[in-house]
Amino acid sequence: MSEEANPFESLQEQVDDAAAYLDVSPDVLERLKNPERVLEANLSVEMDDGRLEVFRAYRSQFNGDRGPYKGGIRYHPNVSRDEVKALSGWMVYKTAVVDIPYGGGKGGIVIDPNEYSESELERITRSFATELRPIIGEDRDVPAPDVNTGQREMNWIKDTYEKLENTTAPGVITGKAIDSGGSEGRVEATGRSTMFTAREAFDYLDKEMEGATVAVQGYGNAGSIAAYLIEDLGANVVAASDSSGAVYNADGFDAREAKEFKAETGSLSGFDGATEEMSNEDLLTLNVDLLVPAALENAIDGDLAHDVQADVVVEAANGPLTPEADDVLTDRDVAVLPDILANAGGVTVSYFEWVQNRQRFHWSEERVNDELETVIVDAFEDLVEAYESNDVPNFRTAAYVVAIQRVVDAYEQGGNWP
Ligand code: NAD
Repeated sequence: MSEEANPFESLQEQVDDAAAYLDVSPDVLERLKNPERVLEANLSVEMDDGRLEVFRAYRSQFNGDRGPYKGGIRYHPNVSRDEVKALSGWMVYKTAVVDIPYGGGKGGIVIDPNEYSESELERITRSFATELRPIIGEDRDVPAPDVNTGQREMNWIKDTYEKLENTTAPGVITGKAIDSGGSEGRVEATGRSTMFTAREAFDYLDKEMEGATVAVQGYGNAGSIAAYLIEDLGANVVAASDSSGAVYNADGFDAREAKEFKAETGSLSGFDGATEEMSNEDLLTLNVDLLVPAALENAIDGDLAHDVQADVVVEAANGPLTPEADDVLTDRDVAVLPDILANAGGVTVSYFEWVQNRQRFHWSEERVNDELETVIVDAFEDLVEAYESNDVPNFRTAAYVVAIQRVVDAYEQGGNWP
């Protein structure tokens, strides 16, 4: 992983690359490259032993031209202002590329959650929710889970907000447990859109999914579910990794069994479906048909990109390639399906959850999955149209061309005020 790459600079570079193909004035472009506002808070929280500890937390609201700010909340030691800004920008273009009526936001706390008890995490989360309360809301900013947060944290944030506001507002946050207003299919949604994107890309590129070899970096929510859904299409998952390293079997292994093994033991290491253990770097450079980076950003830098042997890369993680890696893979004709499409299933089903909350209605899982498929397949078709008609170098630039145009149109139709 490259230490130097700044994800916010990567985002700005991606916007510049795509804007070159569009008729966007430099002043409007500046707006598209910077967040509207960033909340920075220091949360003073009482620990179980009575000490106070201070945690740095952020919420970036990047752009609201197309609807309420939308995006996850991450708990990780590497959370930084620039990372949150970048992730919030990617959300703007993600919601635009799949054409759901949201803007983009993102939040995070600088914390290693493994070092805290559940009651400490609850107080930390409720403290953050108290800071967020004035700037979030069903029509204002709708957070969601991200790395190291899930239904539990979303339920705490909803509860804190509702108590402070003396109301019921399940649509203030998405990714909730089903009984707290969550949606069927939300947990699998990111892996599912990764699978749909891989399926459509293989079809477009005239590649056979049956028997295709697949390596997945990061076997968490997004990666492990993408793995077994792609396996269900007939592909052969041969490698998977987590932060402890990678496992490999040239003949493939059962992706669901690997997920169960990791859930039981906390790691893939020692998984008996594998014949070999290897480093994460080895996994990323395996000679496979499909590589799915599904861990954190900047997993593949310019140097490593020269050694990537996959034909197709589908980005389940946000920002897994540095801009240099992107250039190298473009030059080497590796098809990269960008994060803003491939992992948009999470935010799309979040949108379905919000719609259900607002209608006080509950959809079946089948309906959620069908609607998600329609959104991703339609978005893929829009991307291909932009790719073929704009002479852009790669699918990422095509996705940004589609997304930026939609945001610019919404901004210009509204006009600038005050
Ligand atoms: P997660 O915490 O469930 O899983 C992350 C996995 O990556 C873990 O298995 C962890 O061990 C592994 N990992 C961490 N560092 C690694 C490294 N250096 N090498 C290999 N593996 C490593 O998180 P997630 O929800 O699956 O999110 C993963 C990525 O997908 C993030 O970039 C996130 O922003 C993105 N994403 C997730 C969702 C969602 O709905 N969960 C939606 C959109 C995007």
